[in-house]
Amino acid sequence: MKNISRRRITVQTLLILLTVVVVFIVYGYLLGRGNWDKTYGVLFEVSQKNATILKNDSDQTVGNIANLAYALGSFDLLEHPSTMEYLRRYAEERGFRRLGIAFVDGSAITTDGHEYNVASRTFFNQVLNGTADVSNVLMDTLDRDPVIVCGAPIIHDGEAIGILFATYSVDRYIKALTISSYNDEGYSYIVTPYGECVVGSTHPDSFGMFQNIFAKLTTTTPDNLEMAIELRKGMADGRNGMLSFIDGNGDENYMYYQPVNVNDWYILTVIPVDVVTKKTQGMLFWSYGFIVFCGVMLLFLVFNVQRLRRARYDDLERLAYVDELTGGASYAKFKLDVLRLRHEYPGMKYALISLDIDHFQYVNDVYGFEEGDTALRFLWKCLSDALHSHEAFARVSDDHFVILVGYMKSLDELKIRFLEFAEQLKTYHPSKDFGSYNLAVSAGVYPLDPADDNVDTMVSRAKTAQKRTKGNASSSYTLYSDDLRRELLQNKYLENRFDQALENKEFIVYYQPKFNLKGECFGSGAEALVRWIDSDGKLLSPGVFIPVFERNGDIVRLDQYVFDSVCRDIRRWLDEGLSVPPISVNVSRRQLLYPSFVSDYLKIIRRHGIPAGCVQMEFTETMLIDNEQMFIEVVKELHANGILIQMDDFGSGYSSLNMLRNVPVDILKLDKRFVDDIESDLKSRDVVVGAITLAHILSMDVTAEGVETKGQYDILRTIDCDYIQGYYCARPMPVADYEKILRGEA
Ligand code: C2E
Ligand code: CA
Ligand code: CA
Repeated sequence: MKNISRRRITVQTLLILLTVVVVFIVYGYLLGRGNWDKTYGVLFEVSQKNATILKNDSDQTVGNIANLAYALGSFDLLEHPSTMEYLRRYAEERGFRRLGIAFVDGSAITTDGHEYNVASRTFFNQVLNGTADVSNVLMDTLDRDPVIVCGAPIIHDGEAIGILFATYSVDRYIKALTISSYNDEGYSYIVTPYGECVVGSTHPDSFGMFQNIFAKLTTTTPDNLEMAIELRKGMADGRNGMLSFIDGNGDENYMYYQPVNVNDWYILTVIPVDVVTKKTQGMLFWSYGFIVFCGVMLLFLVFNVQRLRRARYDDLERLAYVDELTGGASYAKFKLDVLRLRHEYPGMKYALISLDIDHFQYVNDVYGFEEGDTALRFLWKCLSDALHSHEAFARVSDDHFVILVGYMKSLDELKIRFLEFAEQLKTYHPSKDFGSYNLAVSAGVYPLDPADDNVDTMVSRAKTAQKRTKGNASSSYTLYSDDLRRELLQNKYLENRFDQALENKEFIVYYQPKFNLKGECFGSGAEALVRWIDSDGKLLSPGVFIPVFERNGDIVRLDQYVFDSVCRDIRRWLDEGLSVPPISVNVSRRQLLYPSFVSDYLKIIRRHGIPAGCVQMEFTETMLIDNEQMFIEVVKELHANGILIQMDDFGSGYSSLNMLRNVPVDILKLDKRFVDDIESDLKSRDVVVGAITLAHILSMDVTAEGVETKGQYDILRTIDCDYIQGYYCARPMPVADYEKILRGEA
């Protein structure tokens, strides 16, 4: 991933740099072209304006002089004494150097008192024989400096009798030809189509006054030759356009040429190239700066986007692969690890372990969630210490952990490691001191088959085995086997069928009579034992389904159903007039959790209207271990209602004889385990003797369970046992068979 993103960044950076370079070149090119176009535009505009000014000024001057000449001729005012004075004032007001009248013979008289002859002058003859016009630049006969003359013929009686002329300095045009653009760094000339200077320029960089622009250009530098030729051609063709030339300082200039429509004159407008480029260079500088800035920003953006993507990826990866609480691997990461490790260590055998903390809810409830989290982290740390680099583990959810553990030959290798791990767990102490807490786990181990490739399935099998471990006193584990799986599948089936079975009355009660050793007869009652006749007629023993319903809680309903059946049978027997010795029913430890337990049972007794003494209840010693106080309370309440209690399976668990002192039960049922050994093992016999003696001292009767042989029967009889219950005397039987015993028929 890192490599890919690094390559992506490099490609993107190169692309951006390439883009910047291309933009640079294209922009530079466009700007260069824009430079030319823009300068052309400005010069065109300036030239147009100046040409218009010139043309208007010229037309106006010509018009005025023509009007004046017309008046002089029409009204024969040439000889009038005030004419010259009028013309003088006219010249002064209009800014002419002077006005003058030249007669047909060329004798001229001016408003400033000069008299001379112009007969040889081309302009004079041209006007006298033509119409009003403006001259090119002429050398003033009087002042010896260049002037422009505007002249109009004076017509009297249809005949030209002379001309009226006005002389003015070229400055008049220079003033008009200003270029406001480019900070007055531009200037203009007016030339004839032959390049002769009409109006020069006073601009310091200009050619000033020159004779001929073509000559001036080419003499300044031969480099201008081509340009001069083109200029000349352009002007000869009456076109306008722009060219560039080198001036006297060696600088390049743009020159725009444009006809003015006065004497075929051309106005040449000049702008130094560097004035233009300086302006655009500034622009260029900022533009390029901007492009570079954009490029840098883009790069920054790309890097940032990549960084954010990377960070987001990291976040996602963390979310997906890291368990927030422990900081260790998540289940998703674990799945990948399992596949990777099995690939990396092909010689290793692996097992998948699923485990959780026993009574974890208790830690949360009693010590608080914070302490719960601490316990989880502690467990995580213990696992982390216990596992090797070729192994993996993760927290799946809550207190559920999964582990991939390796072994070389036999699964027994795991036993030692598991014990060490369990020992380590015991070192945990809650930070708050609420009494002792033993951190223990229940685990299920699924040895991986080489063909296994689905981690979820492996975990589910380990969990299957783990379910079987639950309820053991300290940390322990169960190995997964196909039998176990079948059993659990069967359990599932039983669970699913329970409601229907109850409705179909598939549960029936068998009775196993007790044999009275003292009286050597039945008639001391029986134990009710449930059977399940499945829908296909198969008889299921309670050993198969009771533990299932114990686990899922359905046992409560089943017990009440059995109890109800027993009460109904008793009612019937009573109705038959039979004497009914007590029937004992088994009561699940689960019942104790229901506060309504006693009242529910009493209700059933009352519903059938039977004496409470007809039923007894068998409680197992585990109920006592679970909650002694509650057990005693319940027993007291039942006693108060006339129901006797049997302590079932005594000796099968952890109960001690001493425990009996505190428990107000009426009959002690010695577990089959004692009875089994009674013939062979003297120690067992001693324990049984001790139990019977103690029970008798505490006013309890003793029933020995699971008596199968005559030997056992004989011994029990000699050691003062009260009743026996076992195949030796009678197996559990259907109600009809038991009724025969009640009736004395068997
Ligand atoms: P339990 O209460 O200890 O019942 C005695 C069990 O020992 C019965 O097994 C009985 O058939 C069997 N047994 C009697 N004599 C002999 C013998 O000589 N040899 C051998 N090998 N076994 C003998 P069952 O009927 O299979 O019941 C098994 C257990 O299921 C019972 O053990 C009891 O814990 C439970 N159970 C049965 N019915 C009910 C019920 O209605 N409610 C609850 N909660 N548990 C029940
Ligand atoms: Ca029992
Ligand atoms: Ca028993």
